[in-house]
Amino acid sequence: MNTEKTAKRGAGRFAPSPSGRMHLGNMFTALMSWLSARKSGLRWILRIEDLDPQRSKREHALWIEDDLEWLGLDRDEGGLADKGEHGPYSQSLRHGIYAEMLGRLDATGLTYPCICTRSDIMATQAPHQSDGRVIYGGRCRPAVMPHDAAMEWPERPHATRLWTGDAVMTFDDAVFGRQRVVLADECGDFVLRRADGAWAYQLAVVADDALMGVTEVVRGCDLLLSTGQQLYMYGLLGFEAPRYAHVPLVCNMEGRRLSKRDGSLSMEALRRRHRPEEIVGLLAHMANLIDAPVSCRAEELTELFDWSKLGRENVMVPPNY
Ligand code: GLU
Repeated sequence: MNTEKTAKRGAGRFAPSPSGRMHLGNMFTALMSWLSARKSGLRWILRIEDLDPQRSKREHALWIEDDLEWLGLDRDEGGLADKGEHGPYSQSLRHGIYAEMLGRLDATGLTYPCICTRSDIMATQAPHQSDGRVIYGGRCRPAVMPHDAAMEWPERPHATRLWTGDAVMTFDDAVFGRQRVVLADECGDFVLRRADGAWAYQLAVVADDALMGVTEVVRGCDLLLSTGQQLYMYGLLGFEAPRYAHVPLVCNMEGRRLSKRDGSLSMEALRRRHRPEEIVGLLAHMANLIDAPVSCRAEELTELFDWSKLGRENVMVPPNY
């Protein structure tokens, strides 16, 4: 394939973590991402976000591929076996790329080593968010930022943090509208690489989306605030930012966001009870694309798809599913 042409065409992506079998909520995000990409002629990429070796399993990644195919969400790129031009498509195989990106950020003088333990952070955190998010108080931050390139980094294990200063990021979300994120209030200086060497999601996702030519990011609205951190890095790395569409979360009958514990709504259980067309119809109805949850195939929905039809409220799974 001609690289320049495919890059120009742009891409959407679905980037699940293979930590268990997917559920209806994951499939809702996948379908929205696929429909938007198909409607606007974008490539659709599957990226396996298996950065966490404890929670990620190859077996789950294989099921992700199988469940997407079962629903009729065909991909242009990505997955476990694709050795294509932007691969590998599993984050666990992309350490070298993240190291290079970190090197570029280090060169700005905006990153610094942090030796704080979790309890240090809890004890010194800045006034703290009501939802339990912890904002780093800046204990290890050099007195002058950006710091001098000659600064000594410790030998002992350290995390790497990125200084956020007074950065305020704004963007227009296709579903949630205008957003404004004051990084100092939402997260403070954030971690790019942990002291144990693990890469932070924030760094990996920016590196991957940018290098894979992703022009549209569709994901759950629990990640709306993360977008501020990611846009900040796009700016520092000199990449063009994608457009964003954060989709509402799918909740069970008790109003709780679906999780792996809602076993009856996992793809394993749903596939035993339903045909793919029934699940696609249900998801399309939950997205307000069709008036009733009637059976249909994903490709029949492409023309009906429009971001303006989605609400911002959490979506409930109807009873009896
Ligand atoms: N891997 C993340 C998840 O499964 C999604 C990250 C993203 O789409 O940016 O929740």
